[in-house]
Amino acid sequence: MGEKLTCVVCGRKFSVGQGILISFGRNTYNFHSKTCALKFVKKVLESLDPSELERTADKVTEEYSKILKEKTERTAKKIA
Ligand SMILES: [Zn+2]
Repeated sequence: MGEKLTCVVCGRKFSVGQGILISFGRNTYNFHSKTCALKFVKKVLESLDPSELERTADKVTEEYSKILKEKTERTAKKIA
């Protein structure tokens, strides 16, 4: 039946290739669904130093806004 992984959050077993894997540094964590992965990531973030978290979240927001801006510009060029 192949190898089974166990969801870190809810303990459900699932097959390799299904579910979600997230790596932090050298560790990889297995989740059976996006909901469990999100729950875990949120918990990790909440456990970090708030000021560090704020800085990092700001940086990520900035990166996404850059991507969005580029996308908008590309679309505008296509229309023109
Ligand atoms: Zn789960």
